Amino acid sequence: MRTFTDPSIFAHHTVLVRSDLNVPMDGTTITDRGRILASAATIRSLAEAGARVIVISHLGRPKGEPDPHFSLAPVAGELAEAIGRDVAFASDTVGEDAKAKVAELGDGDVLLLENLRFNPGETSKDESERREFAGQLAAFADDFVSDGFGVVHRKQASVYELAELLPHYAGSLVQAEVEVSDRLLNDPARPFTVVLGGSKVSDKLGVIDNLIARADNLLIGGGMVFTFLAALGHDIGSSLVEEEKIDDVKGYLERAEAGGARIMLPTDIVMAASFAPDAEHWVRPIDRLVDTPAGDSGLGLDIGPDTAAAYAKVIAESETVFWNGPMGVFEFPAFAEGTKTVAAALTASAPGAPADRLTVVGGGDSAAAVRALGFSDDEFGHISTGGGASLEYLEGKTLPGIDALA
Ligand code: ADP
Ligand code: MG
Repeated sequence: MRTFTDPSIFAHHTVLVRSDLNVPMDGTTITDRGRILASAATIRSLAEAGARVIVISHLGRPKGEPDPHFSLAPVAGELAEAIGRDVAFASDTVGEDAKAKVAELGDGDVLLLENLRFNPGETSKDESERREFAGQLAAFADDFVSDGFGVVHRKQASVYELAELLPHYAGSLVQAEVEVSDRLLNDPARPFTVVLGGSKVSDKLGVIDNLIARADNLLIGGGMVFTFLAALGHDIGSSLVEEEKIDDVKGYLERAEAGGARIMLPTDIVMAASFAPDAEHWVRPIDRLVDTPAGDSGLGLDIGPDTAAAYAKVIAESETVFWNGPMGVFEFPAFAEGTKTVAAALTASAPGAPADRLTVVGGGDSAAAVRALGFSDDEFGHISTGGGASLEYLEGKTLPGIDALA
């Protein structure tokens, strides 16, 4: 991976910086600025070094044409605040407005282009279409700095083809994310504990597969739990389950028995009468989950208090912890306790925790959960900006956007 330490190599150059400014929005209000703050360092350092900086990003999933719902315009102001400099905004990607504003750039100026995915070439399956769009972007600049870790697992024009067309470098965010992921994979201080939750077991199978031989403990929470409990023959009522993954899960449990990581599963679950914030709910041991007034129609929405306490103890005693995926439906306060307890055990102030341990929070929803639950970012060693990308890295896959920076 090509990196740089001295940003002054870019003085008087026009540099395209691919950031991941794909922040969650409610209308035109940004609900979590984490990715903007994480992207600021690279952009600021280039501008301070006298580069002419063109920031490019996507937002959401528009369908390859302009769509005001997905405009990056609201992000420009927040980015300006994060870097402490003005940020100009172009209302298109490679059109008239972008061309005019690029031509106006002076040393130290920063310009944000409109959502890359307003152009079908960005995500096209057809390589020649991606190349054409990348070529139009490349025509603006002398160099390319790839800093959008959240998209490096995608073979897209601004991530992959652009690196083929310009002198390219990894930005400081991509460098930091790769360094942390490499430490988790290859050199974790032990005990190394991996905590996995979230809604779908199928998203995390690859990570379980690759980490079962590397981690000491695998703690399972969230909606994933029920595919494991079903594999063990428990009655899970109407809880989330992926029937077609039960055999994979059985295989992992066997590998764990045969000397892999210890897989810990919940001993108790918060069962609810329905999927609603104010649903009636009961804590039940895993062999009596449907023993509630809701019967078979009850569903599990959080790990129970005994489980949360047991997980917290293992986490607090670990030298390295990677956490991806909330332990329950944390969006509903009644089902946020498991996630809160686990998050607290990962913080720097967790009682009894080793002083210099490494804690990593991966996954968009997990990062949003810790902030929504009132924890501050600096309580954790590293909060990853790339959910899918960090998972794929930990699966041991080659990521196109990293490969392209060789
Ligand atoms: P991340 O983005 O951190 O990787 P995921 O996208 O895999 O996490 O999953 C997050 C979602 O999982 C949250 O919206 C949460 O409500 C949901 N979830 C957690 N536990 C359960 C459960 N028991 N049943 C249904 N959904 C759950
Ligand atoms: Mg998610």
